[in-house]
Amino acid sequence: MTQTNRPHLDLAELDRAELEQALVDLGEPSYRGRQVFHWIWARGVTDFALMTDLGQTLRTKLTAAFRIGTPVLEARHTSTDGTTKFLLRLADGRHIESVFIPDTPAQTFCVSTQVGCAMNCAFCLTGKMGLVRNLSAGEIASQAAILAKETGLTTSPFNIVLMGMGEPLHNYDATMKAIRILADAQGLALPPKRITLSTVGVLPGLEKLALEPLMPNLAISLHATTNEQRDQLVPLNRKFTLEDLIAACKRFPLAKRRRITFEYVMLDGVNDTPEDARRLVRLLNGIKAKVNLLPLNEAAGIPFRRPSDARVNEFARILAERDVIVSVRRSRGRDIRAACGQLIVEGERASAGQAMGARIR
Ligand code: SAH
Repeated sequence: MTQTNRPHLDLAELDRAELEQALVDLGEPSYRGRQVFHWIWARGVTDFALMTDLGQTLRTKLTAAFRIGTPVLEARHTSTDGTTKFLLRLADGRHIESVFIPDTPAQTFCVSTQVGCAMNCAFCLTGKMGLVRNLSAGEIASQAAILAKETGLTTSPFNIVLMGMGEPLHNYDATMKAIRILADAQGLALPPKRITLSTVGVLPGLEKLALEPLMPNLAISLHATTNEQRDQLVPLNRKFTLEDLIAACKRFPLAKRRRITFEYVMLDGVNDTPEDARRLVRLLNGIKAKVNLLPLNEAAGIPFRRPSDARVNEFARILAERDVIVSVRRSRGRDIRAACGQLIVEGERASAGQAMGARIR
């Protein structure tokens, strides 16, 4: 690796093979890289001085040559339902949010892939920020490491949903590298099947994902059943149509017993009619699918309302009657603004022009 000549290479950005090489470039045996990787990812230790099995001389050498630029936990808020939102400060002073959702049915970490988001879906607060920047692989993976440490789950199973801020397939390489880092047996050893990647359907990314050796679960943010309607709700649909998205889903290689989750945000009087439900059944015909209905989390500045429970249940009933597997996402952490689509960090929008007039909190 040529990068090691650069002073203070950030070791949190390296997968295990790269980290071993960085140590070899420093004149050390490669197993030292494996040890450092274990400290960072399995034990959440980012201070070389605390890596006690490395020897004082090596620790001094590492401190001189490298840094470990993981985010810093700045604040946390716990909801009445136990959901906890973590505010993390990145090395450049930007902020992101990650959410711990207990018992759903497993413990789940909701992780961000970008600061802000470029997709600008009509009902999502994060979209109002615009895209500030991509997160690096280390910044994505670190969220899981920090939450695991903070919640005492480093050695217990947990799931990750890439449903925080950002569009993972719009930050493809960093997202995949983060999955690789998290899966490594020397680190958190998180099997990719415990990770769900949620996307609005960035088609070139979806085609690449289909070829990945480490395959997360796939969730598609569908939200509408006609191009006319989806163009309005998910602007990316103007580039990649519903037909192309569905065709890509039909081609997507699924392991045995896996299904693609289709997320469908429910907007009162907009996309929640019985006709919408029946169109959705037809659209998903021939796909191993399950549908997750997301009754809208309302927020100031979002021009939609949440439908009544009766309306949501009727929609779900129509799907279930036609043998579509359907669930309704219980909204978690709304009181601390941690629910789906509510992650936004004040003062970090891409530009004032994209921001809403009113304060969002
Ligand atoms: N960009 C990715 C992942 C982040 S959003 C994606 O769009 O899939 C995770 C889910 O929350 C998406 O399905 C998104 O549409 C949904 N969501 C966004 N805003 C919401 C809101 N206000 N209420 C309910 N769900 C929302």
